[in-house]
Amino acid sequence: MKIAVLSGKGGTGKTTVTSNFAVNIKHSIGIDSDVEEPNLHIFMDMKNSASEPVYTLYPSIDKELCNLCGKCGDFCNYHAILPAKNQVIIFRESCHDCGGCKLVCPNGAITYKKREIGKIFKGRSKYNTELHYGLLNIGEMSGVKIIDQLKKYSDLDGKTIFIDSPPGTSCATVAAVEDVDYAVIVSEPTPFGVSDMKMVVEMLREMKIPLGLIINKAGLGDEEIYHYCEDENIEILGEIPFDKKIAELYADGKIFSDSLPEYQDFFSDIYKKIAEGRRSL
Ligand code: SF4
Ligand code: SF4
Repeated sequence: MKIAVLSGKGGTGKTTVTSNFAVNIKHSIGIDSDVEEPNLHIFMDMKNSASEPVYTLYPSIDKELCNLCGKCGDFCNYHAILPAKNQVIIFRESCHDCGGCKLVCPNGAITYKKREIGKIFKGRSKYNTELHYGLLNIGEMSGVKIIDQLKKYSDLDGKTIFIDSPPGTSCATVAAVEDVDYAVIVSEPTPFGVSDMKMVVEMLREMKIPLGLIINKAGLGDEEIYHYCEDENIEILGEIPFDKKIAELYADGKIFSDSLPEYQDFFSDIYKKIAEGRRSL
């Protein structure tokens, strides 16, 4: 089973929730798909990681064959290939590797070259959980390819995968959640938290992904989130209280259920609820 953990914006406790699930659920894999700013491996103290590069393709023009007809430029939605007066100019970082320009070129003048856009790391945490994460090179525009490769890399084989997704509703978030069985939204009970989670709920419903909510820092804000969940028929899976001990453990980069064992059942009970709900679908 694949479970995505996501939020409307960064800093709401998404990685905290993912890491607590990953250490408390047996036979699980933690994946950090927030490839612009991965930090699950830091929280989970990843050891002995191995890495492999992720490549993307970009067009290369054979000047002998190109007659500057302009068809490739007309086709490209990303303005990554520009037939100019004397030559075709390529903007490598804007290319989404769709392969279309080669198909429309009437003269067979386009081939593709590869370049590295980031890496995938694989290892185990100090809690003996399998961990994978991706890292996008600085200056690159899209981490979708790294996320796709990360997910291919993770053989389910009877395991549960917890995916720490990029925040918001970007292309990268869609790539991270598109084939999951369930999505856990993490939000704080404040007007900003509710406003940010609304877009995520809309995106997940559009994608027909079942969802539930964990309220982080419960007791901090007001009642709006409860009214919203009632109106929208969103299940509140659990609430993590606004608690000084949890905040201190978080600030020390620790997984709070490891130091506060009373929370171990909190995460395993939520997992059971999700798994049982799926069986009854
Ligand atoms: S491969 Fe696709 S995105 Fe890249 S330059 Fe060609 S048409 Fe544009
Ligand atoms: S479509 Fe082919 S021939 Fe036409 S400008 Fe592009 S590369 Fe040159």
